Amino acid sequence: MTRILIIEDETTIAQLERDYFELNGFTVDLCHRGDEGLQLALREEYSLIIVDLQLPGLDGFSLCSKIREAKEVPILIVSAKKEEFDKIRAFNLGADDYITKPFSPSELVARAKAHLTRYERLLGKQEKSPQDEIHIRGLVIDKASRRVYVRNQEVIFTTREFTLLEFLATHPNRVFSKDELFERIWGMDSSGDIATVTVHIRKVREKIEMDPSNPQYIETVWGAGYRFTV
Ligand code: CA
Repeated sequence: MTRILIIEDETTIAQLERDYFELNGFTVDLCHRGDEGLQLALREEYSLIIVDLQLPGLDGFSLCSKIREAKEVPILIVSAKKEEFDKIRAFNLGADDYITKPFSPSELVARAKAHLTRYERLLGKQEKSPQDEIHIRGLVIDKASRRVYVRNQEVIFTTREFTLLEFLATHPNRVFSKDELFERIWGMDSSGDIATVTVHIRKVREKIEMDPSNPQYIETVWGAGYRFTV
């Protein structure tokens, strides 16, 4: 049973959220104050926490950063605040998602499920593997011996290809531009060309992806760069 906490002072919204999550098989605790929500969040074990920003007792931003300091749990902000400034602040404090009111309850539940799946993968990976091995779906990166196994078969990587893959995989879900990757992997003193990043990404994809034209590990974020998706 997946147990979640909803911290929301508007009772109609809180009840609407609870109803939708319960319909989807979740166990829900409701709390209408920020300070009480924080106590519950720290004392109990929740799989996911939904936080409103404007709350009596303690505001949602403080709540978010205090929960994040203590717990590895997905935090979803649901707020009437629509400003980009507020969203960025929430993400910087450790929120996993930001949904503005009015919202679709079905979408909220769908997003919550997606975050739960992602956390399970991340935390499951940490429990099972030693520090020097990264296991992600069918991919194993052995950092100590610098070997890569794809669906149980060893695949030979060049030094640069390995460094690139290892770097991306140790920073999951973060977007790096070609410039950043070039600086970090090839170094400032390199006489190479930035196009080498594109070439190496393609080579790594050919080695690890089932279908390199539809990559499941190294995703292209258009206009921004690349991200290793976990
Ligand atoms: Ca509120």
